[in-house]
Amino acid sequence: MLLPNYSMRGRKRSFKEYPPCDRCGSSKNVVGYGKRFTQSRAKQTYYCKKCEHKFTPNDGFKWVRFPPEVILAAVRLHQNGLSIKQTAEEIGKKYNMRVGESTVLDWSKKYADLAKDL
Ligand SMILES: [Zn+2]
Repeated sequence: MLLPNYSMRGRKRSFKEYPPCDRCGSSKNVVGYGKRFTQSRAKQTYYCKKCEHKFTPNDGFKWVRFPPEVILAAVRLHQNGLSIKQTAEEIGKKYNMRVGESTVLDWSKKYADLAKDL
């Protein structure tokens, strides 16, 4: 029986594939900890051995309850001249979901650059 050669793979596994700990910033002591299940998908959770901290990397849309396409649509509507109030109403009609004006304002601040690039 041939055993697969793991030496090359082992060398490729640098600590870079683990994100830095969001408490102490070190990625050398971070290990995979398993998956955490959210409403929509499974997210990898990590554990930092240095400060004994469990965390899930922030992917930008982490705590946003709305699909990214809705957010981008809202940001674009606002950039195209609609007021925050009008944008909230448009999104409500188009996607059949309630979006608060403060939420739209938040999005337009946070994701303005993102919408421009796409
Ligand atoms: Zn840490």
